[in-house]
Amino acid sequence: MNAALRLLRVLFLALALAPVSALAEGPVDAAFRDAIAAFAAARPHLGAVADGVDVAAYGDALGGRRFASAYWGGVVEMAVEERLEATGSCSRFAAFVRMPPENGVVALVLCPEFSTPGADSLRRLTILHELVHVVAGPDECRAMSFAARIERLAFGHATPVERYWRANGCERSGLRAP
Ligand SMILES: [Zn+2]
Repeated sequence: MNAALRLLRVLFLALALAPVSALAEGPVDAAFRDAIAAFAAARPHLGAVADGVDVAAYGDALGGRRFASAYWGGVVEMAVEERLEATGSCSRFAAFVRMPPENGVVALVLCPEFSTPGADSLRRLTILHELVHVVAGPDECRAMSFAARIERLAFGHATPVERYWRANGCERSGLRAP
């Protein structure tokens, strides 16, 4: 998780100066809306399992529903926590997933940096990426590959993350590179 999140942080900082459109809704709601739309566009082209991710469970989690997880072994619920202070893990990351689940709840923690102005597409990618961790655990290669698969199917291209793909040794994962 950490390496990809560092990447996301770097991209956030790089894109922070990009023009910002007026936000009619908060960045967290907008990011979820965009991620849900991307997944909906990709969904017809996904099988039951893609990159080791249970697609139905992923859709349930993304939509805020409980999901049956073969990975965690039971029914799990995602809780979204927005942190207001950039302390602890939020001093390093824009977002992270606290796992494994505790009492059937896995927490997606969104840090202040996540809501930095700009970089809407990166926020969407962050949600698509972190939801893989929510549903299918900590494998970075899986998270990058699945998120890229959604982007390609929905938009025809994926956000380039070659450095982090290599940094995580994902060439050996057998998964498709983003
Ligand atoms: Zn990750």
